[in-house]
Amino acid sequence: MIEAKSIKENLDVVHRRIQSACERVGRNPDEIQIMPVTKTVHPSRIKEVLKLGFTEIGENRIQEAERKVVELQDHDPQPTWHFIGHLQSNKVKNVVRFATMVQSIDRLKIARRLNKELKKKGETLDVLIQVNVSGEDSKYGINPGDATSFVKEVAQFERLNVKGLMTIGLFSNDWPKVRKGFKMLRELGDEINALKMENVSMEHLSMGMTNDFELAIEEGATMIRIGRVIFGERTTSDSFYWPGIKTDTN
Ligand SMILES: *Cc1c(COP(=O)(O)O)cnc(C)c1O
Repeated sequence: MIEAKSIKENLDVVHRRIQSACERVGRNPDEIQIMPVTKTVHPSRIKEVLKLGFTEIGENRIQEAERKVVELQDHDPQPTWHFIGHLQSNKVKNVVRFATMVQSIDRLKIARRLNKELKKKGETLDVLIQVNVSGEDSKYGINPGDATSFVKEVAQFERLNVKGLMTIGLFSNDWPKVRKGFKMLRELGDEINALKMENVSMEHLSMGMTNDFELAIEEGATMIRIGRVIFGERTTSDSFYWPGIKTDTN
């Protein structure tokens, strides 16, 4: 395997790429938050990004996240954990214990359970609604056509603060198609925003990963979730996280 460059060097490259993407469309790079995604990444390497000031961290699996929460509990600075994976209802209790934001709300049942659990604890939670813009069966997320009514329903749960939308782009090298999905998410965000629902803001558009973050930025991302471009390739394949995906990117 090729020796990965240092995390710092990789992040410098990411910054330059964000800068260029922003220049192409006249955006300010300060509007774009980098969220390191640390699945499969050893805690010692997570400490490196924390030290560099990236403290909002994304994890895809509950058990792995819980392990890391413990392993990093005495670290300064502390990470703020975002749960970005598929959430099962029997894991709702667990996620409430460590997550500052859950980005993957796509079923009413999950929203209801979260609300109930938060109520018991006297807490609230920021959430994003996950939308399946690519239409791939293998990805979780609400259908774009159902997103507005879904947001309305989630907004009824007083313990959940809807803060925006999240998507996983189409796994493809057909960039115009990938871009179309990101554009769709932004337009959905604009439409929902225009409705001025109580308990709903559209401040976050969480979209863009290692393969497509520049496109996502060009289409309006405020938060990019990137793993491999910072930490190097994973040894687990993507089908481990998204069962049944077809990918023509590698
Ligand atoms: C793994 C993961 C990412 C980051 O993917 P990379 O290709 O490593 O950048 C982003 N979002 C979610 C939901 C993920 O599970």
